[in-house]
Amino acid sequence: MTSKQRKRQGNLVPTLILCRNCIQYIYEGTKICPHCNVPAEQESEAYIKGNYRYFEAKKCIERILKKTNL
Ligand SMILES: [Zn+2]
Repeated sequence: MTSKQRKRQGNLVPTLILCRNCIQYIYEGTKICPHCNVPAEQESEAYIKGNYRYFEAKKCIERILKKTNL
């Protein structure tokens, strides 16, 4: 996606997602979490047991629906 396309969609505000290890908000696309210094994709027990996977999936679907104006 070019920056022009991004502007048209009004997606200038960086998206925040949860670090799957420490469950703190980080910018989408962050590889190493600045809070816990662990790869942000690495799921911790707290992340799995707290059902954050479903919470994040729901948020992701909502973002896509918003972008496509459905
Ligand atoms: Zn973290």
